[in-house]
Amino acid sequence: MKAEIVPVGTEILLGNIIDTNSSFLANQLPLLGIDLYFISTAGDNQKRLVDTLKRAWERADLIITTGGLGPTQDDITREAIGELVDEEIKVDERLWQELQDLLRRYLGEIPQSNIRQATIIPSAQIVPNRMGTAPGWWVEKDKHTVIALPGPTDEMKMMWQDGILPKLRQKTTGEIILSRVIKTFRLAEAKVDELVAPISKLSNPTLATYINPDGVYLRVTAKARGRTEAQRLIAQSEEQIRNILSPYIWGVDDDTLGSVVGELLRANDGSLATMESCTEGLLCSAIASSRESCAYFKGGLLACCDEAKTAYGVDASIIERYGNESTEVAKAMAEAARRNLKTAIGLGVGGSINPDTNSGNAFIGLSSGKFEHTFTHTLRGNHSRMKQRTVYAALFDLRKMLLEEVSCT
Ligand code: ATP
Repeated sequence: MKAEIVPVGTEILLGNIIDTNSSFLANQLPLLGIDLYFISTAGDNQKRLVDTLKRAWERADLIITTGGLGPTQDDITREAIGELVDEEIKVDERLWQELQDLLRRYLGEIPQSNIRQATIIPSAQIVPNRMGTAPGWWVEKDKHTVIALPGPTDEMKMMWQDGILPKLRQKTTGEIILSRVIKTFRLAEAKVDELVAPISKLSNPTLATYINPDGVYLRVTAKARGRTEAQRLIAQSEEQIRNILSPYIWGVDDDTLGSVVGELLRANDGSLATMESCTEGLLCSAIASSRESCAYFKGGLLACCDEAKTAYGVDASIIERYGNESTEVAKAMAEAARRNLKTAIGLGVGGSINPDTNSGNAFIGLSSGKFEHTFTHTLRGNHSRMKQRTVYAALFDLRKMLLEEVSCT
């Protein structure tokens, strides 16, 4: 089965709201084994919406619209679907009665414009809306299914779970599509692509690479009859990918660099303190935002200037000798953070970022009492990207050091 999502709303086209409905639905469809090739947004204009629906009809068996089911004149999804399937739209008296009861209860009055929400075409069934006044439609016509859901995300999701999902499950073949995202750092996308070229040729599972601020991701997607088979196919590909990219892989799916570092610290009863300069608190935030981080993260010191660094215990002579942003100072910052907050590990992060040339260096220092490491990384990109990249580089280095420490004990 092929699907097309048609989000309706001029607000989406103007960039006033983000189309989170489509992202929810796009995540749901693969679980039913339904292919999604197009998401086609239309504004609140009936002619253009009908054109969009006609194009979707040509290339999909299932069309899902969201939005435009309200009571006002610019809510035109019902009329557009009526025009698409060439059916007359009429008030359904029973539905209007139910809606009036609901409005009386919630508003104490019955705005006449709401009658539009009680209209229906002969081939539509009503999808009840427990949270709002706009019922949805399930239309079956000429081997096509058109589903109309309201715009507010909570209503749309609830109707999807209650009214749509069970019916779609019955219709689909039982094939499901499962994905797993494997996350790497430090390799360029082209290099990752080149290294995994033999696996990319497979048609099931398929492999896609794409760039994120925290590295290059690989998405392995398998289609199979049943979850177990899909998982088996994904596991096979993942093993091959790990054989090739192992030193660069740091996580999967919802992992963040902050969370994987946190897991390692927690598993080894570790404790961490940080001191950062040019990253303006982003490092602290990336670590502290992981759940239960207070179990291992004692705190982050922000030292924007030399006075702050020395006040936190960095030796002024090191700054004088090596320059305020250098690997030696980063190491001294790591030690000072560790001393100040009495932790097993200190991480110091500095950098020289030149926003005029869009280039710079990240300086990372790690101190554990047993090990000391420093790293320098070259940065490129705009200012905020370089800061973000510095944080990810620091967390990736910390992860590497933690793994080395574990393997040495
Ligand atoms: P209502 O009965 O509330 O008018 P509706 O079905 O007519 O519902 P719209 O008027 O198109 O829906 O949108 C109502 C609100 O729903 C929008 O202001 C927005 O907050 C949210 N919404 C609409 N479409 C989307 C979308 N694609 N993604 C996320 N939110 C959306």
